[in-house]
Order: sequence, then structure tokens, then C-alpha cells
Amino acid sequence: MQISLIIPFYNEEEQIPLTIAACVGVLDNTGRSWEIIAIDDGSTDNSWQLLYSAAEKDNRIRVFRFSRNFGKEAAICAGLDLAAGDAVILIDGDLQHPPASIPEMLDLWDQGYEVVEGKKSARGRESFFSRLNARIFYGSFRRLSGYDLTDASDFKLLDRKVVDAWRDLPEHNTFFRALSLWLGFKRTTFSFDVGNRE
Ligand code: UDP
Ligand code: MG
Repeated sequence: MQISLIIPFYNEEEQIPLTIAACVGVLDNTGRSWEIIAIDDGSTDNSWQLLYSAAEKDNRIRVFRFSRNFGKEAAICAGLDLAAGDAVILIDGDLQHPPASIPEMLDLWDQGYEVVEGKKSARGRESFFSRLNARIFYGSFRRLSGYDLTDASDFKLLDRKVVDAWRDLPEHNTFFRALSLWLGFKRTTFSFDVGNRE
């Protein structure tokens, strides 16, 4: 049983060494076999050099680079295509999704859940407008689609079955948070505090 951890990075040179070290530490502690798939989404800073040297030092770290910035959704799609694991975890590269939650996610997967979703219990430091924006967006989304994504996040574990179902979707313009909900499967949630962006 292998675990894949997908991490998108866009201009995160300050953050990359910390994030990789934190994730490797947590993954090693699980005692499971793992790979990290790091996607450089067209960074213009030193992100790629840092990811590349991390991969040179540890062959469980696989790194990929986009030709330009395509956005996080595209990075997630690429990661889901590349991941080989029996369980695949998506996590932000800026440590706003705490890697310390990974063991809890794996426990829930061991209990038979196929989708394990991070729910934000505190939203971290966020401006009034960003908060308002989220309320308006998720409020409209809920009324139009019937799916409530308030407090939902992209911090998720997907079983291999779900990843394969996602990859079968014909969508090109994706909204991971919503489409992964629409797919169904046996789901549960865990709570996490959104860390502050370093
Ligand atoms: N990211 C990305 N491509 C982008 C923008 C962001 O891959 O065009 C990455 C970013 O490096 C981070 C994650 O996606 O690891 C979440 O981005 P951000 O922190 O900007 O989003 P927020 O915390 O506001 O949801
Ligand atoms: Mg962030």
C-alpha cells in the first residue's frame, strides 16, 4: 500500500524547504511507503531549483514543472494523473493545510472511507473582503448547485477508486472541491485549523 502526497507550488521558494521537510517527517512516521508529487505551476522564482534538488536527494520525491502558470486546478489534475498511490492526499504547499493531520486522514481511510475531506474549523488570518468573497461565492454556489462547500477545502484524501473515477471525467475546466464531492463514494470529514500563510 503506497501513499501519494500531491503538492502544488507557485512561487513558494521561501516555503518549499519547510514544507518538504514537514511532509517527509510526517510521512516517515506513518511507517508506510510513500511518494511526494510536487508540481511547480510555472514559478518564476527559485521554486523549481529547490524542488529539483529535493528530488535529487530523495527518490521518493518526484517533481514536475509546467511550462507556465496554469493555476492550482491544473496542478491538481496533473498530480492526480501522475500519482501511483493506493491513497492520494492533496495538500497546499504553504503549510496552511497542516501535515500533522495526515495520520488522522490515513486512520479514516483504514476504517474504509474513500474520501476524507478537510473542513476548516478556523480560517486563519483572512481579510474582511476575502471572507465576504468566500461567503458570496459559496452562497451562490450552494443555491445553484445544491452542494454546500462552506468550510470545504482541497485538503483531501482520495482512495485509488476515486482517483480513477475522477480521471474518467471528461471535464477540462475543473473545480476539484465540487467535482470530488459530486463523484460520491463513502465520505467523511476531519477538522483542521487553517494555518497562517508564512
Ligand atoms: N498555487 C498554484 N498555482 C497558482 C496559485 C497557487 O499551484 O496559480 C499553489 C500555491 O503555491 C499553494 C496552493 O496552490 O501551495 C494554494 O495557494 P494559495 O495559498 O495562494 O491559496 P489560498 O490559501 O488562498 O487558498
Ligand atoms: Mg494558502
